[in-house]
Amino acid sequence: MSFASLGLCTPILEAVANQGYEKPSPIQAQAIPAVLEGKDVMAAAQTGTGKTAGFTLPILERLSKGPIVRSNQVRALILTPTRELAAQVGENVATYSKRLPLSSAVVFGGVKINPQMMRMRKGADVLVATPGRLLDLYNQNAVKFNQLEVLVLDEADRMLDMGFIRDIKKILALLPKQRQNLLFSATFSDEIRELAKGLVNDPVEISVTPRNTTAKTVKQWIHPVDKKKKPAVLTKLIQDNKWKQALVFTRTKHGANRLTAYLEARDITAAAIHGNKSQGARTKALANFKSGEVRILVATDIAARGIDIDQLPQVVNFDLPNVAEDYVHRIGRTGRAGAEGQAISLVCADEFKELTDIERLTQQILPREDVFGFVPTNKLPEPLPLRPLKAKKPKKPKKPKAEKVNNQPDGSNGNKPQGNKQKSNQAGNQKAKSRRSSGNNKPAGKPSYKSDAKPTGKPAGKPKGRASGKPQGKKPQSQKPQGNKARNGKPSGTAKQR
Ligand code: AMP
Repeated sequence: MSFASLGLCTPILEAVANQGYEKPSPIQAQAIPAVLEGKDVMAAAQTGTGKTAGFTLPILERLSKGPIVRSNQVRALILTPTRELAAQVGENVATYSKRLPLSSAVVFGGVKINPQMMRMRKGADVLVATPGRLLDLYNQNAVKFNQLEVLVLDEADRMLDMGFIRDIKKILALLPKQRQNLLFSATFSDEIRELAKGLVNDPVEISVTPRNTTAKTVKQWIHPVDKKKKPAVLTKLIQDNKWKQALVFTRTKHGANRLTAYLEARDITAAAIHGNKSQGARTKALANFKSGEVRILVATDIAARGIDIDQLPQVVNFDLPNVAEDYVHRIGRTGRAGAEGQAISLVCADEFKELTDIERLTQQILPREDVFGFVPTNKLPEPLPLRPLKAKKPKKPKKPKAEKVNNQPDGSNGNKPQGNKQKSNQAGNQKAKSRRSSGNNKPAGKPSYKSDAKPTGKPAGKPKGRASGKPQGKKPQSQKPQGNKARNGKPSGTAKQR
């Protein structure tokens, strides 16, 4: 199957060929026709499967045939859980739409809102956003949804993990009822299915990897080691194997900082990326890693989510994740789009339960290999036989929580606050500029996984809270209907000459 046979227009086919993609990946082969037909889609796909192009290409195709976007309006909204993923999806959209008369923008929190408000005055055919900043912009009248045609929830499982459900529900309530909905998630938990019920309409269901499996192209094994020896073992592995680069996962932010300092002290260039780092520091660390200046990127799960790095051959779990699903996400960082990768986990005796959970979830016993000179004194127990995964029982309906109100010392109702985590977790503004720098000159033919165009989001200034950004003096000008003509009719609006 070729991209041309999927019915995409020449400018999109050229953009795809420029990226060096020879044929559609399985998710693309299934998602593109469904989206082109205007169907709702629910897709189980890990990052690395080519899902971004799977939804972006047909959306661009459809948008290119529709009306011109008006001031402050959005025609396709892509919601992502993290700023890194937003920037990355934004780069993809800019790259694929380079030869089309369509505009795109990226908005996320943690950086100044004003440039984003200014940008939205022109409207955006495609807006990639994290939920909190999108709501801020909406509340300041900078974003309107009257023209919205398509909604994409990308990495929906992570959105829920990060507590975005309330913001997502608020956003859904603001959108026109008549729209196309696309839901992408690496894993399909019961919570995601619950969310999907109120979102997608008679969806085409696509699953390119069986539930919770890791990519076959990734070779995985574990090194049993004593906890205290992990930094030394990692150093040995980096040096003995002469790894050019590796992405290393730690469970905690402090752990990431400590390990980075340890490696740096041994002349191994390293940078940490986690939620306590400013957006500027995160962008810089990622850019330095992508450019090869930094050899080891040490990351926590949330920070690394969705990061797409060219041909990353090596992932190391310095600590196993608490949640077995995160193992699947981590492994998704390597072996992307068919490339080969290795995922090594350093496992101490304390982590036996986490290891067992991972082995059960992925339905495989991970091979074990001792590291010469580091055979653990605290032995890791033998693997437990694999038990098949049970289907989860449906949850009992929750009791009303009214009686809990005000029974907490702080007068709160004792429920965990939700939905505000993103405030510290979002940032940036990526302008359409990035499309000019996004590596379109690669020769066709070779699989070329990505450009290393850097997000152009400026480093965070003083972040403004929701209430602090003043509405922009004058109201956005062009609220008058501006030539809602089809693109192939004559545009009358001033927003854009197609
Ligand atoms: P994604 O799953 O969207 O994060 O994509 C993973 C990687 O696969 C990205 O680096 C894409 O540039 C690359 N990719 C997407 N589609 C294809 C394709 N059809 N052939 C080769 N690489 C692709």
